[in-house]
Amino acid sequence: MIIVMKPASTAKQLSAVVARVESVGYRTSLIKGEETTIIGVIGDDRPIDRTQFETLDGVEKTLPVLKPFKLASRDMHPMDTLVPLNGHKVGASKVVFIAGPCSVEGRTQILETAHAVKEAGATALRGGAFKPRTSPYSFQGLGEEGLQYLAEAREATGLPVVTEAMSPEQVPLVAKYADVIQIGARNMQNYDLLRAVGKVNKTVLLKRGMMSTIEELLMSAEYVLAGGNTQVMVCERGIRTFEKYTRNTTDINAVPVLKQLTHLPVILDPSHSTGKWEYVTAVARAGIAAGADGLIVEVHQNPSEALSDGAQSLKPEKFAQMVSECRSIALAMGRS
Ligand code: PEP
Ligand code: MN
Repeated sequence: MIIVMKPASTAKQLSAVVARVESVGYRTSLIKGEETTIIGVIGDDRPIDRTQFETLDGVEKTLPVLKPFKLASRDMHPMDTLVPLNGHKVGASKVVFIAGPCSVEGRTQILETAHAVKEAGATALRGGAFKPRTSPYSFQGLGEEGLQYLAEAREATGLPVVTEAMSPEQVPLVAKYADVIQIGARNMQNYDLLRAVGKVNKTVLLKRGMMSTIEELLMSAEYVLAGGNTQVMVCERGIRTFEKYTRNTTDINAVPVLKQLTHLPVILDPSHSTGKWEYVTAVARAGIAAGADGLIVEVHQNPSEALSDGAQSLKPEKFAQMVSECRSIALAMGRS
């Protein structure tokens, strides 16, 4: 449920309402708008008797939030959440580009790629140090050494670092080096991991599971938000369908659906959602046209030699072209 305060209500009335809500066992979350303040009331699944709050001083009305996700829902938080990234606000007018290799493969590789993607207009650098690979015999990532190279690349280019944590135990280490902690598709419903990143003071990029619904994605975002971390971006990265020509099927619908359902920034990953570099730019353009706040794209200097996901990696020149085409689309839509 949400409690909407009257525009003329006082700070004292607000604290009295919050105290009353908490005294009957619910948690509150305040959303201050330009004219009114909204109190989000979060409890368990039992129905709340709303009338008990409607007569309190300063309260304009109460409204139920019927969706299973509450803190992630636009009903509770109508304004867009803006997540800071490299001097930009993800979710505001300017679209952002997170780019870099699937995996950090070595110091020179990540430094060169970081400079190349920065030159091409990237907002942040991506690169996995801990890799969730389908086969235990595939390259598993450089671990902490990879995180150190990422930090060095940030130092050299000023690009913030987006990198994955795969287990709750890894979160403190990854948080030491990363600016944004990625939760991968395979871990979208790893609730202990979601709880762990809910407690750190780092932005979370939460990717949709390849077999998860949009509602399940938002329920996972809810775990992070409920832990107290409000800096969450959700990411569509393609889902499994019967189609075989592409690695996954980009659920482009998810972009406007998510923008409607949640106030969190929405990112599209055209790399994992297609699996083939030839289609990445087209789907990237579609993502921006559909209203995504940004893209996360795999870029490799020499894709044929990449230790993971080479087939879907763009060379830096192709990435630069993609950025310029996406910016034109953003401009046509009144964004930048
Ligand atoms: C990745 O970003 O390299 C990755 C493994 O993504 P996903 O979790 O979406 O498969
Ligand atoms: Mn990858």
